[in-house]
Amino acid sequence: MTTIAHAYGFQLAAPNAFLEACELLIREPGPEEVVIEVAGCGVCHTDVGFATDGVPTRHPLPLILGHEISGRVVAAGERTGDWLGQSVIVHAVISCGVCPACRAGRPTICRQQFMPGNDGNGGFATHVLVPARGLCPVRELLPRGITLEMLSVVADAVTTPYEAIRRSGLGPEDVAVIVGAGGVGGFGVQIAAALGAAVVAIDVDRERLELASRHGAGLVLDASSTDLKGLKGAVRAFVKQSTRQGIGLKIFEMSGTPAGQITAFGLLDHGAYLAVVGFTPKPVELRLSNLMAFDATARGNWGCPPDQYPAALRMVLEGKIALSPFVEFHALDEAPAVIQAAANHSLRRRAILRPNHHEQRH
Ligand SMILES: [Zn+2]
Ligand SMILES: [Zn+2]
Repeated sequence: MTTIAHAYGFQLAAPNAFLEACELLIREPGPEEVVIEVAGCGVCHTDVGFATDGVPTRHPLPLILGHEISGRVVAAGERTGDWLGQSVIVHAVISCGVCPACRAGRPTICRQQFMPGNDGNGGFATHVLVPARGLCPVRELLPRGITLEMLSVVADAVTTPYEAIRRSGLGPEDVAVIVGAGGVGGFGVQIAAALGAAVVAIDVDRERLELASRHGAGLVLDASSTDLKGLKGAVRAFVKQSTRQGIGLKIFEMSGTPAGQITAFGLLDHGAYLAVVGFTPKPVELRLSNLMAFDATARGNWGCPPDQYPAALRMVLEGKIALSPFVEFHALDEAPAVIQAAANHSLRRRAILRPNHHEQRH
């Protein structure tokens, strides 16, 4: 064991149980591993799925959840010494780099991947042990208003929509429709706008829609008071008025809800592109033939390839993606309550759990 005193985390011991505090014995990092002192760990819909929806983790329970981690390297293995002291964002999906999928340029579907909080203990903790190949370095001097703990959301909530939007080839001639302007979609709106597209945001929450309209959405639509027909009509009018020449809507389902998925699919038009970014274990009924009839494309993405992290981080550091209006901080010790609040959809912003290392040392 390394000499990390008072390391602890919050583990899920059984499906649908409350997270419980547990002591954390961090083993000596292997030759290719590092130990991160967690600065912040974002709470994702996927964690809620594991904790309250019975979605099984790949590593058996008990397990410390959390895959949206930023922090500092405090212990290194034989070949990872160069990372010591470095501020980092941990990739949410850490690919092996050598398997057929990785060699084929599809690292996010690497079968040997390590996802913290799914394949092993994650970031709802003071410390986490991860393979060093899964690190994105963060420069020491950050722009005003951006902190290392805040950058935890880049691990997933920013990079996953970034990758979905990159794959769609979105550009200035396109209209992007972001369904679900919450913890992930709020960043999706900003990324799409930064790429020059005209952006529509659809959500059921007034406050989120107001935030989206202040951060790049040219049209916001409240799906709690507008039916699909109404949404379609409003989007069509917006496309016309935008004078963009792109063929087909680029639709991004970021709500991870059955209602959002039905709305996103229902908006397909000729040549449309539908990206499935949000996750729900619940099934929906769709007429799949609409893809054929509209000559449309639907695509999903599991996280973001390692080589795209620096570009996504750069957008944040250049101020093209604002983080602070979209996140809220909670003490790590509030993890059980925060997961419940996320499950009840009572959080409006992306929650970041923050261990208080300073206090622990005194
Ligand atoms: Zn996630
Ligand atoms: Zn691989």
